[in-house]
Parts: sequence; structure tokens; C-alpha cells
Amino acid sequence: MAQEIIHLAERVLQVPPSPTLAVNAKAKALKAAGEDILNFSVGEPDFDTPEHVREAGKKAIDDGHTRYTAVPGIPELREAVCMRFKEDHDWDYHPDQIQVCCGGKQGLYNIFQAMLNPGDEVLIPAPYWVSYPPIVQLAGGVPVEVPLDEAMNFDLNPNTLAAKVTSKTKAIFLNSPSNPAGSIFSATALEAVAKMALERGWLVVTDDIYETITYLDGKLPHILDVEPRLKTQTVVLNGVSKSFAMTGWRIGYCAGPAHLIKAMNKIQSQSTSNPCTPAQYAALAALIGPQDFPGIMKQAFLPRRDFFVQDLESIEGVSCVNPSGAFYVFPNFSAYYGKSFKGKVIKDSVAMADYFLDEAKVASVPGAAFGADAFVRFSFATSMEVIQEGMTRIKQALAALAG
Ligand SMILES: *Cc1c(COP(=O)(O)O)cnc(C)c1O
Repeated sequence: MAQEIIHLAERVLQVPPSPTLAVNAKAKALKAAGEDILNFSVGEPDFDTPEHVREAGKKAIDDGHTRYTAVPGIPELREAVCMRFKEDHDWDYHPDQIQVCCGGKQGLYNIFQAMLNPGDEVLIPAPYWVSYPPIVQLAGGVPVEVPLDEAMNFDLNPNTLAAKVTSKTKAIFLNSPSNPAGSIFSATALEAVAKMALERGWLVVTDDIYETITYLDGKLPHILDVEPRLKTQTVVLNGVSKSFAMTGWRIGYCAGPAHLIKAMNKIQSQSTSNPCTPAQYAALAALIGPQDFPGIMKQAFLPRRDFFVQDLESIEGVSCVNPSGAFYVFPNFSAYYGKSFKGKVIKDSVAMADYFLDEAKVASVPGAAFGADAFVRFSFATSMEVIQEGMTRIKQALAALAG
């Protein structure tokens, strides 16, 4: 291979390669070769965007909404975001406190670019969404993992959290319901976080992208309801990607203190400018229109979740926390680590996912990608038939392991 002349930036080199890349590439190659691969690795609803939202997107194009808009989004959309927060939570936000971004992910990126200095630490409860640590690293910060315990249903333990706090701690991530475990944080845990954040002046970043997809009877606990005084040091992240099956439209939004939002707008103005204009009009239709769509998806997800969890739990040595939200199960397969197939030892979650792909023709995501190597993530945003067939194959593959 020719020598590479261009050297890469330190900040890129320090981001570790994704543990999912190899498994993903192999799944694609097998599929392309005509193998019957069952795909449980996707992180998006298996629903089409609702029709009235698609129509609004098409109409926006025909109406000539095809030019630049204000960097933080069209005023109507920021007002609609404020209206949703008021109706859904009774939170008061002004449009100046709202940034519409190119998907929730860009919102997170903007937050940390706007408020971290080199060496600043950010607390990240683990298992976490894959993008959190690299987003912190690319902003010069240091991700600090706070391990969550499966035996506590991945709720946050205030003592574990306190042990990770230093004088450099500047922010904490909350994600409830979570990706990858569908777990939620209890009001008690959130109270403890709120107390520490208030005392120490941390920024709280609460990623609420799955808030409309919960299987709880009661209300989902939220840190701003637990401690309203935290509003001046909290950014709420949400968007239409999951709630309205709009992952490809790339519209998310952030609500937070006006000076921070303004700084985030500066970053956005010099990187992407405004989010896609017709997509903003589609998102507007989603937020001001009927709100029954997440409930329709939930009705489809619920029996799939119940079957998946029960069938996983029925396997010797496997445990699986019942997800309270989102559309993922996150079973613990570590009892099988150390076993082998045809002399090849399954040593970790990457090897486990690789084995499921090779032997069961089932694509999943290794827990290592989420900072929790005992586990493997499966999405149930797929049909019941696929889940049933997948479970049959997984059980056969596990039974074939020796040692
Ligand atoms: C999907 C997802 C997001 C947002 O994704 P976008 O497609 O960028 O809107 C944010 N957080 C978590 C945990 C997610 O799973």
C-alpha cells in the first residue's frame, strides 16, 4: 500500500474504531451473497412515516420551501416544539431556547462543542448509546463511564455515580427510556442526580428521544419534574426520528438556557446551517397534528417485547431485563462466554454476535458497543414472525456450544 501523505487529527485518532463495524460489514456481505439473514441490528421503527407528515413534506417542496431558513429552524417549528413541551410536560420554553438540528445526534454534538473545554469530564451511565463517548471526545472532553447494574434493572445507583465525580466533572448524560436496554431511571435516582448537579453546577443532558414509546402504566419520571430548579442547567434533547418514524428526515430539537442555545446556533451556523427545509415542515405537521402515532407503534411493539423477553429468559443461563420503553432487548449471555464452537472460543460480546451471525444467520449488536460486554442488543422493530424464527435459531446456536 502506498504511504499515506495526509496525517489525521489527534481528535479523530483517539476515537476508537466501532466494535459493530466488523459485524455489520459481515452481515451485509452475507446478505449480498444471498444468505437468509434475520436482521435485529437496526435502530429505527419498522413503520413508515405517517401519511399526513409525508404529505406536508411534499407540499413544502411544491410551495417553494426549498431555500435556507433561520439557522435554529423556522419560527413556526420552534413554537410548535414549545407547545409540545407545554402540553406534554407543562414546561415553559421560549422559541429562543429552542434549536432545531439535523437529527437529535447533531443536537448532542452541538451541546458539547459549545460547552466543553479540553479535559472536562462528562458522566455517562453505561450501557449507553454508542455515540455519547465519541461526541464528548470530539469536543475535547473525557467520557467517564458510570456502570449501571442489571440486577437493579439498570437504574442509576447514586453511590456508584458519586464515586466517579471529580473537580473536572462538567456534565452528565441521562437517557430514559434508554438505548440499548429500554431501561428507565427512577424518580429516586433522578433526585440524587439533581441534588449533585445543583450543588456542583453540572449541565444535565437528558436524551428523551424514546419518551413516547414506554410500556409503563404510570408517568415516566423526568429530572425536570423531580427538580424544576434544574431547568437553567439542563438541555432536553428530543426529536421526531423515533416518535414519528422519521429517522431519515433528520430533524431533532434541543431546549435549554438561551445563552447555551445561542452558542450551539453559532456551531450549527458554521457547520450545517439550518436543518433540511422541507423536513422542518414535515416535522411541524408531526408536532401540531394528531399525537396517536407512537401509541399505534407501541401496540405492535408490546406483544413482540413480551414474547422476546419471555423466550430469552427461558434459556438456561440467560437473563433479560424487561424493557420499560424503546424497542430493544438487551439479554446477558455472559454465562456462555468461554464456551466454544468447533474449537473456537466465544470470549466476549463481539465474538457472541459474530457467532450468532455465522451459525444462526441472525444479525445483532454486541454489548461492547454500548459499554456493556456481557450483553447483546436485539431490536424488536421487526415482525413477530422474524422474532420467533430468530429465537429458534438463537436457541439452537447456544445449544451447539460446548465447554
Ligand atoms: C435514535 C437516537 C437518537 C436520535 O437520533 P437522530 O436520528 O439523530 O434523531 C438519540 N438518542 C438515542 C439514544 C437514539 O437511540
